[in-house]
Amino acid sequence: MIRIDHLYKRFDEHEVLKGISLNIDKGTTAVIIGPSGSGKTTFLRCLNLLEIPDSGTIELGEDKLTFEDQKITEKIKTRFRKHSGMVFQSYHLFPHKTALENVMEGPVIVQGKPKEEARETGIKLLGKVGLGAHAHKYPHQLSGGQQQRVGIARAMAMGPEVLLFDEPTSALDPELVGDVLKVMKDLSEEGMTMVVVTHEMSFARDAADEVIFIDNGSIIEHGTPKEVFEHTKHERTKQFLNRLE
Ligand code: ADP
Repeated sequence: MIRIDHLYKRFDEHEVLKGISLNIDKGTTAVIIGPSGSGKTTFLRCLNLLEIPDSGTIELGEDKLTFEDQKITEKIKTRFRKHSGMVFQSYHLFPHKTALENVMEGPVIVQGKPKEEARETGIKLLGKVGLGAHAHKYPHQLSGGQQQRVGIARAMAMGPEVLLFDEPTSALDPELVGDVLKVMKDLSEEGMTMVVVTHEMSFARDAADEVIFIDNGSIIEHGTPKEVFEHTKHERTKQFLNRLE
């Protein structure tokens, strides 16, 4: 489903991704962990071209981009972004639109779907994230956790093949984190392909099929949660995990 080969990205003289290669199969939940500033978010943003890598290749489904050779035009970006949906740390809902209208916006405006169809899908998705009773509320009437769940429904409304999560719970009060993780875990169990950057090790342990530890722009360790957490191979991973305890 996702094939990444020798991905490099620098900001000025700072090389942030140093040759990342990774395959993620359809239906897999891959959780990316690692210290702050190690390149996790940049990597995720490269997957939907919010950042353009300097070199390497990214293949999503049938769509393959090779960065040193190809000029990444707006047309290519629009095409490539259809494969994935992104859930951000801060959810950026439209404040003057209801939860349902926020979820309908992409399908109607970007995909040109009929409003009735988008409404039906939107209501279904809000039900799925536990917000069936809140569809007609505005963002300011919802808690941060509820707003983030609208953010997840909004990403799913576009029918992406892959969901990308960039620290989806780190802006939330601790008591609101659980409901968002529960929705993510349900999606994972339903077989959605997901790439999740998070500091929530409980989610990595419980929901991940694969855990990827990135440090200083490189993948240091990659395996099942059991392999990475219980049979840690690399000293740097051990140090990182020990610091969290
Ligand atoms: P992480 O998600 O692991 O905390 P990031 O991918 O956010 O790491 O950042 C990796 C490094 O790249 C950091 O040193 C950060 O300051 C730098 N960086 C990220 N985005 C930019 C940008 N747009 N311009 C310049 N430097 C950036």
